[in-house]
Amino acid sequence: MQAEIIAVGTEILLGQITDTNSPLVARLLATLDIDTYYQTVVGDNRTRLLSALDIAQKRAELIITIGGLGPTPDDLTKQTVAEFVNQKLIEDQVALDKILDYHARTQRPMSENNRLQALYMADGVPLKNEAGFAVGCFYQNPNVPDILLLPGPPWELEPMLVKHALPLLAEKYQQSGVLFSRVLRFYGIGESRLVTQLANLIEQQTNPTIAPYAKAHEVTLRITAQAATRDEAIKLIDKMEADIMLEVGDYFYGYGDDFSLEECVGQLLIDSNLHITAAESMTAGLFQSTLGKVAGISQVFDGGFVTYSPATKVALLDVNAEIIGQHGVVSEATACAMAQGAKDKLGTDIAISFTGVASGELESQPVGTVWIGIAFEDEPVEAVLYHFGTERQKNRERAVMAGLDLVRR
Ligand code: ATP
Ligand code: MG
Repeated sequence: MQAEIIAVGTEILLGQITDTNSPLVARLLATLDIDTYYQTVVGDNRTRLLSALDIAQKRAELIITIGGLGPTPDDLTKQTVAEFVNQKLIEDQVALDKILDYHARTQRPMSENNRLQALYMADGVPLKNEAGFAVGCFYQNPNVPDILLLPGPPWELEPMLVKHALPLLAEKYQQSGVLFSRVLRFYGIGESRLVTQLANLIEQQTNPTIAPYAKAHEVTLRITAQAATRDEAIKLIDKMEADIMLEVGDYFYGYGDDFSLEECVGQLLIDSNLHITAAESMTAGLFQSTLGKVAGISQVFDGGFVTYSPATKVALLDVNAEIIGQHGVVSEATACAMAQGAKDKLGTDIAISFTGVASGELESQPVGTVWIGIAFEDEPVEAVLYHFGTERQKNRERAVMAGLDLVRR
């Protein structure tokens, strides 16, 4: 089975974004023994997309387009593919209801353009979008290669492909057996280092296959096995998982598409009934807001502190002003004093503190310098030093992730 991927988007051609979708699609197709022979990038342009489709149809049995399913005038993939195969577009009622419902619920005005996202090719199978509105489509017509239309945003593409498109492709192209996959989640290791450490396994992979995927500040690995029965597939996956854990098990924190580090930490705290609080300077409440995403967290989280200025650190946390004066705001001593102060104030089992340089420069410390303090039960309070990057928001998010990881350990 030979496939061609066509990524549509002028922003890719201009180098404004990197095409991360095509490699992911290729890796996942490989799990079904579908070989990607060509990957094309074409701009948001009807004529050039038609010509890319024309070239692809001569050399591929399956064409996958990525992007351009949205509501804006530059999103023309569906319309162009429909024109290419001389097929009309029709509305998917389920997708349309979702769009109508969203606009009604949020009291947003809905434009005619929004309806476009519910369109798919007549005679095709609409593919549900779990994370957005634009439906995908799997279109089969004996006169042309099969065509799969996927959305551009990676967080929409991945679930649509894995949950809805791959099963259809497996059904059509594979003789028998089941396809089963499991997602492992890792924190504290980048995608490239993970891939390097697993290089042997990845090189030798046939069944199961391993597909790494970088998410915001973490990496996931999807292990996919094909076998006669589900139990056999699970056995293959268990074996592969054990091999993976030998290499990178230190960074593993949980399973599944929808799991997250905050979910992992929140559940740990709830299960062991450990109460937590936080004293946040550079994160300004982001850690607590992130914990707040976890259902049931109120059992172990009563509240905490946002202490941005030195004065509020003194006033709300009883941090000794001399410590700040002597060591600086971004220092081990201040991070420890903040965590200890928060813990003493609320009498929790755990307190965590954040102080750092999110952007610019502070006390001649470079941007990205962050101290995270942690006070845990009766153990001596300690602080860990991190050096993140230069982007303000990313530094704040990375600090929160690092803090969650500290609590987990
Ligand atoms: P939307 O409904 O959001 O407009 P869409 O299906 O029309 O989705 P595009 O408009 O092509 O998709 O792309 C939307 C965004 O998705 C891009 O701005 C980019 O951030 C991301 N994206 C698109 N294609 C890719 C790609 N090949 N690799 C990585 N990211 C991509
Ligand atoms: Mg778009």
